[in-house]
Amino acid sequence: MKEFQLIEQFFKNKGQKRRDVMLGIGDDCALVQPAEGKVIAISCDTLVEGVHFFADMPAHALGYKSLAVNLSDLAAMGAEPAWMTLALSLPDVNQQWLADFSSGLFEAAEYYGVALVGGDTTRGPRCINVTINGQVPKGKALKRSGAKIGDWVFVTGSLGDSALGLDMLRNKQVIKPEHKEYLLNRHYYPTPRVLAGQALRGLASSAIDLSDGLVSDLSHILKASNVGAVIDANAIPLSSSLTESVGAEQALAYALTGGEDYELLFTVPEAQRGAIDTALLHAGVKFVKIGQICSGNKIKFTLDGQPFTPEFKGFEHF
Ligand code: ADP
Ligand code: MG
Repeated sequence: MKEFQLIEQFFKNKGQKRRDVMLGIGDDCALVQPAEGKVIAISCDTLVEGVHFFADMPAHALGYKSLAVNLSDLAAMGAEPAWMTLALSLPDVNQQWLADFSSGLFEAAEYYGVALVGGDTTRGPRCINVTINGQVPKGKALKRSGAKIGDWVFVTGSLGDSALGLDMLRNKQVIKPEHKEYLLNRHYYPTPRVLAGQALRGLASSAIDLSDGLVSDLSHILKASNVGAVIDANAIPLSSSLTESVGAEQALAYALTGGEDYELLFTVPEAQRGAIDTALLHAGVKFVKIGQICSGNKIKFTLDGQPFTPEFKGFEHF
């Protein structure tokens, strides 16, 4: 199968159509028409076989996740998804694999209103790069740098599930049958908090998406904003599948250091707290206050009201 046949069969004229795409797949560049008063938000993520996913990862999940992780970056900026390009490197043309990959990719694309406008296809080790473009009203993007002393720290969803799902796949944890599907889905099909991110515009003082774990990603906010934070370990949202699988202590370790949650972490000034409740209720996402921004440049934890130093042992992720 030739490159253009592959594109024709699996990627062209598929999924979401958008009226702001003047020219899609087929020319040297795509042409898109940004909306008035908005700026373009751009981000890309690469998934490499053997590094970011196992060779036997179902292609449908891989297609879905390739876009979802990029959408999570848009969510963290409060941007609305619009257009994507796809750079695919494949060792061979496996039609079933391509069909599954494409259906996973377009499932996410249709749900979030993203049009595939171009890409590149090469032969090589399996590797997927999606570049996402979104739009955000000028001056309204959420950044990492706006957190102020006294602001409250919130997270969406629950943390640590994806990392446990990964450890289950690596046979590092034995999981009861009733929790397997949930944990695997949290790892394979992350839910980018796209609507929540948009709802936070003008309310949150800073935001980031959790791709590398709470400790690591919160540190990015603290550094960019030049502040510290006190986090109440008891308040960190944990799923029952996580706590029932590994116990409270290990569950907390997964939540603090496990990657790939793709939840949002954000800070909110006291004056906006009420507004946040209403805004996120409409976005239909669960969220919870886990701490407060303070002076300094470190994360301090409390557990049952006492200072607490988490120990992170035995959690090397690849
Ligand atoms: P060029 O050589 O000019 O870069 P290509 O032959 O690589 O063009 O690609 C032809 C068209 O197909 C271009 O519009 C490109 O954006 C699109 N394309 C190539 N690979 C993909 C892909 N994997 N998914 C979507 N579009 C693709
Ligand atoms: Mg090319």
